[in-house]
Amino acid sequence: MFASHMWRPWSPVASPAHPLTLVRGEGNRVRDTEGVWYLDGIAGALNASCGHGHPRLIEAAQRQMARLAHYDLVNASHPAAERITERLAALLPGDLGQTLLVNSGSEATEAAVRIALEYWRNVGAPRDRVVTFAAGYHGSTALALHLSGLPYTRSGWADLFPVHRVALPGSARSARTAADAAALAARFAEAFAAGPPPAAVVVEPLLNVGGGIVLPPGLLARIRALCDQYGTLLVVDEVFCGFGRTGRMFGFDHDGVTPDIVTMSKGISSGYVPLGAVTTTDAIKQSFQAEPLLRGLRYGHTTGGHAVAAAVASAVLDVVDEEGLVANAATRGATLLDRLGPLLAYPDVVDVRGLGLVVTVETVDPAVASAVVLGARDRGLLVRQQGACVMVIPPLTLTGDETAQLADTLLAAFDQVCRPAGDV
Ligand code: PMP
Repeated sequence: MFASHMWRPWSPVASPAHPLTLVRGEGNRVRDTEGVWYLDGIAGALNASCGHGHPRLIEAAQRQMARLAHYDLVNASHPAAERITERLAALLPGDLGQTLLVNSGSEATEAAVRIALEYWRNVGAPRDRVVTFAAGYHGSTALALHLSGLPYTRSGWADLFPVHRVALPGSARSARTAADAAALAARFAEAFAAGPPPAAVVVEPLLNVGGGIVLPPGLLARIRALCDQYGTLLVVDEVFCGFGRTGRMFGFDHDGVTPDIVTMSKGISSGYVPLGAVTTTDAIKQSFQAEPLLRGLRYGHTTGGHAVAAAVASAVLDVVDEEGLVANAATRGATLLDRLGPLLAYPDVVDVRGLGLVVTVETVDPAVASAVVLGARDRGLLVRQQGACVMVIPPLTLTGDETAQLADTLLAAFDQVCRPAGDV
């Protein structure tokens, strides 16, 4: 109804109005204007980890909204922000205890990279080089986009600071062995040695926009070791993976790694209200006493750490804990991966991979992925197209029955579009 006045993000301007207008969400299902219910394999905007319409989250938002919607965190404070930052300090490993609250994943990246670069100035040994994955994605503000080497994200503007983007070998899609981890770590070692010591490495524990690429176990630990060797700060982008998505609370937990800086968004508020966060060590925060103009971080947004968002985030942590959503993501994800395994026999399917509730079927062509996504929608299932990949990213509250329904529906959609090898 409003589509003709809406400039949709990351979409061709000439595309027709989106045929699906969603008006309601309950649990793991959403309903459109025609009254059709869909199983939500996209978790809203990849963030509704607790499902839709969760009474605990609604109540937390309503209570905070009625008490105090928001207040300035520059000159004052509010208990909702104090509580969530305290809880994040308890949840995160090591000395990760100082959290800046922002509104989105991009802002979290923006702040994290600035903090990392300025840290080196603060300690009197400036560094500006950043190492990252070429297929990584960390947000769409200028600084965050500058990190990525994905063709979509390149603006052609002047570089902001030197970035060394490590390419994945083609076989990295399902690279799951210790040898794969060693081979990829060698590429990072080359990147470290290819210039002055890097200020920071910025990595996702699983490459989301890059195509749901699961990293080989042990790679993050090897990158941590390189960072220790060069004194480089390890920034882990948990915007997508954080709060249970991959079947562990954080993506870096799979490798038992402690980063120096962590960025979060999406699952932190289950997408009910915008929130992002950057958590650093106390030493990094304290270095800002040497900042010449403010003796602090010259960064912040009016609604960063919005009280309603902060209150919802604390309720999300309760729900994730009480409903066992991290373990549920691991169990349902393993089942889903298993059920979708037969797709590997289809000539149009390149790979089936996943970790927790991020399951990706890579096809040979974006047109195949697009047809499967539309076919699934016709069958009452929403899944996401990412280039040639079909990605399944449901709420972490997915039940056993819904897992089976999701797998059966997606298999049926693939059957309609392409057939297994030898099947005539
Ligand atoms: N980092 C990662 C890993 C992401 O997946 C995203 C969003 N897709 C972002 C950063 C950017 O977050 P936002 O869209 O909230 O700015």
